Amino acid sequence: MSLLANQTSLIIVAIIQTINDNADEVTELDRAIGDGDHVVNLQRGLAALNKMEDELSMLEWSPAFMKIGMTLMSTMGGASGSLFGTLFISMAKAAKNKELDFKDFAQVFSQGVEAVKQRGKADLGEKTMLDTLIPVANILMIDAADNVDLPKALDNAKTAAILGMQSTKEMVATKGRASFLGERAIGHIDAGARTSQLMICTIVDMLMND
Ligand code: ADP
Ligand code: MG
Repeated sequence: MSLLANQTSLIIVAIIQTINDNADEVTELDRAIGDGDHVVNLQRGLAALNKMEDELSMLEWSPAFMKIGMTLMSTMGGASGSLFGTLFISMAKAAKNKELDFKDFAQVFSQGVEAVKQRGKADLGEKTMLDTLIPVANILMIDAADNVDLPKALDNAKTAAILGMQSTKEMVATKGRASFLGERAIGHIDAGARTSQLMICTIVDMLMND
């Protein structure tokens, strides 16, 4: 069973819509503790993916993740471009010769998140996208090991993404531009944590309504 078979272009369009709907809010977040360009960087990357949707939908998982990662890396710019790019390029390597059932996907996503940690030299609690990505990877691995059924696992992933994103609000940043602000970063959600959560929740919602 492929998790997202034949849905690539629909998912990209839905993610673009979600990011557009929340663009002003995300810009405000990145303006408060960064330089305000995060949403524009992401929209540029997503627009490039949208242009290659036909090509992407023809590919197996591994080459599709590779293409997505390389495209985000080369079009987005910003810290987030290389980090989201790394996520997908590492997922491509981990997905080689896999069917991507739920257990495989949990493993593949976790390896991608591990690569982001290494690339950003960051971990949980540093007020970055990793505060969304790590809890999601963790709950996927736990639920895959426990044979939790897919609807419940998807719901758990969504909850983990939302709680992780919200957890960045009270954190001091130790990585990225926000780290220059010290205590002044407290009270603001991290922009990359918010867009990561929005994208994960969009994908989950699409899979749930499948
Ligand atoms: P830039 O910071 O170069 O302007 P963006 O605004 O596109 O790039 O992305 C900023 C986001 O990137 C932050 O909100 C944070 O989530 C993420 N980020 C920045 N540095 C790191 C890091 N070292 N590790 C993980 N994520 C990071
Ligand atoms: Mg920025």
